[in-house]
Amino acid sequence: MAEAERGPNPRDQDLQPRGGGPSERDLRPVDEPRPWLRCYRCWSQNLEAQVHYDAILRIDPESGGFSERLDEVQEAVVQCLDCMHDQPHLTFTDGRVEPVEDRWERMVTGTPWVASCTVTVDQDLVEVCSGPEAADSLTYGAFGEGGTREFFTHVRFHKHDEDKITIHLLVELYARSSEEATEVLEEASRGALTITSLAEESRPPAAESDEAH
Ligand SMILES: [Zn+2]
Repeated sequence: MAEAERGPNPRDQDLQPRGGGPSERDLRPVDEPRPWLRCYRCWSQNLEAQVHYDAILRIDPESGGFSERLDEVQEAVVQCLDCMHDQPHLTFTDGRVEPVEDRWERMVTGTPWVASCTVTVDQDLVEVCSGPEAADSLTYGAFGEGGTREFFTHVRFHKHDEDKITIHLLVELYARSSEEATEVLEEASRGALTITSLAEESRPPAAESDEAH
């Protein structure tokens, strides 16, 4: 039983700094500002992480403990408890929340932009284009991870043309300027992108919080 209790738990990793000593990160003063540690939409600091841990562990025949960790996957989704949105600018690494460097500043300080656009991709990039999975599959075909993890998307329709599919979408993303919004869409798109309109929306109202700056 004692062995089982010492079994794998994502929290074990909190206690084991990599490299045998405290990392540079652990030595930072606690009052260092963390402007990224908030909801990118409503700036609430009321966040929660849902952590999923999966592992395959070889069992030691003598002790019943785990002799080898063959495959360990830890995934976490950080969510805002005030507006209930996922926080794609935050990741969960070694037991703490960290910013996604090429994303957080744009999302936290930016405003929402809504683009009406088309992406033309090879049909091989779209797994299914009808049925309940179609919208996700078409979004992933058009914008990959960015499309499914960060953007809010609405697939309006799609058209087949020989071995190509043209996907018509509405996309909402956070950016600091129209140029930046365009760049982000261009980088994410997996085929030829045409933006037919791009408009700035107003940011949702900030959550009421004593900690708000
Ligand atoms: Zn929020």
